[in-house]
Amino acid sequence: MSETNQNLSSAYKTILDEVAKVEPRIADATRAELTDQRGSLKLIASENYASLPVLATMGTWLSDKYAEGTVGHRFYAGCQNVDTVEDVAAEHARELFGSEYAYAQPHSGIDANLTAFWAILAHRIEQPELADLGLKNVNQMTEEQWETLRRKFGEQRLIGMSLDAGGHLTHGFRPNISGKMFHQRSYGTDPETGLLDYDAVAALAREFKPLVLVAGYSAYPRRINFAKMREIADEVGATLMVDMAHFAGLVAGKVFTGDEDPVPHADVVTTTTHKSLRGPRGGLVMATEEYAPSVDRGCPLVLGGPLSHMMAAKAVALAEARTETFRTYAQNVADNAKALAEGFLKRGARLVTGGTDNHIVLLDVSGFGLTGRQAESALLDSGVVTNRNSIPNDPNGAWYTSGIRLGTPALTSRGFGADDFDRIAELMVEVLQNTEPVTASTGKPGKAKYTIADGVADRVQSATDELLDAHPLYPGLEL
Ligand code: PLP
Repeated sequence: MSETNQNLSSAYKTILDEVAKVEPRIADATRAELTDQRGSLKLIASENYASLPVLATMGTWLSDKYAEGTVGHRFYAGCQNVDTVEDVAAEHARELFGSEYAYAQPHSGIDANLTAFWAILAHRIEQPELADLGLKNVNQMTEEQWETLRRKFGEQRLIGMSLDAGGHLTHGFRPNISGKMFHQRSYGTDPETGLLDYDAVAALAREFKPLVLVAGYSAYPRRINFAKMREIADEVGATLMVDMAHFAGLVAGKVFTGDEDPVPHADVVTTTTHKSLRGPRGGLVMATEEYAPSVDRGCPLVLGGPLSHMMAAKAVALAEARTETFRTYAQNVADNAKALAEGFLKRGARLVTGGTDNHIVLLDVSGFGLTGRQAESALLDSGVVTNRNSIPNDPNGAWYTSGIRLGTPALTSRGFGADDFDRIAELMVEVLQNTEPVTASTGKPGKAKYTIADGVADRVQSATDELLDAHPLYPGLEL
């Protein structure tokens, strides 16, 4: 155990003892969560384990300070320490990703995307309108001018990857505000290969002429060529926005470089900080100098006061991501995903796109005669935590699904290697081959309906326990 972990271990024990004096149920739930995370094989592609210094930075009095505004321009007095925090976070983000500008205030990925969308609208629609009218800001507009501008906001178009191809709901999906504020169309993947079809994206862009072309995904197991996306955006005059929430760690760790690195190609790049980047829950927006002034108005455009303690934790995580150790980690994440994919393929399972070249493996469980929901539950009964996910043109829809999405970032943080991931594939196939769907009339109402052959779940659970014991989470942390 490192000295840092040792010191923080006793600090956490003391903190939770103090919390227990105020509300024991919260102290208990916090301790129980550690036990659960230690004892489960976490393959959820969007989750990770932040370092103890990152976790510790979240729990401080920086949380108590209001600091609406930007560095050096706050609407509250006494923000000098928050200025330092935000400055350091932005500096690390710029230097790590090579971006011209970074904004560390968004509280989450969804907030980062909302900030980006409105910043693009402000830059592309509002600013030219103000310039035409010779005005400085919207408060100087007459009611009529304001109504004209509001109508223009509502006329704008966006294209993004469809949800069943692996896109995120903030990329124009109707139930999300992105699908309500923009006229929206989506691009899918090639029906044969499951791969992104750049010609189809270009054809859609030519026909629909979007203001915003969104690239990025939550469940697509391949890399994207952002130079090609840039060409498409340029041809139709669209702003290229890349949401790298899922693969930011692979960009930070220089696994994705050249055309696969979105930062040199996109106008605006958004991310979460808690997935493959292994930081605290939060969002980040990066942009070119051209878009920077609009992004900088995220507060009050769509955000309230920044969460200073979270920006501090982002700064610590970004500092970690600038190390050689993190580069090795990121490469291991990608290598482990390949080992996991190969483990499934050699045992006859079908993977969407036939493999992976990022951190995600998308397993099609229909070949086992199961829905994603049944597979997810049977795996959970065996100690394997995954999430069900649609596959392209999913016959089972978004609730039951036909897929299971798997990711390697979390277990790689625990030190799992390629052999461990091959073993995980073996164990998962054992569960899925020994799970039978149960017809609706005999299953329990409201539950996924399936049965697992006797002894399989217990056998797999003890095999996963062995793997977990060999790679302890936060070793030495005793609560
Ligand atoms: N963008 C992508 C691509 C995501 O996968 C996610 C989360 O799953 C988000 C945005 C939203 O992030 P958050 O949950 O922090 O709002």
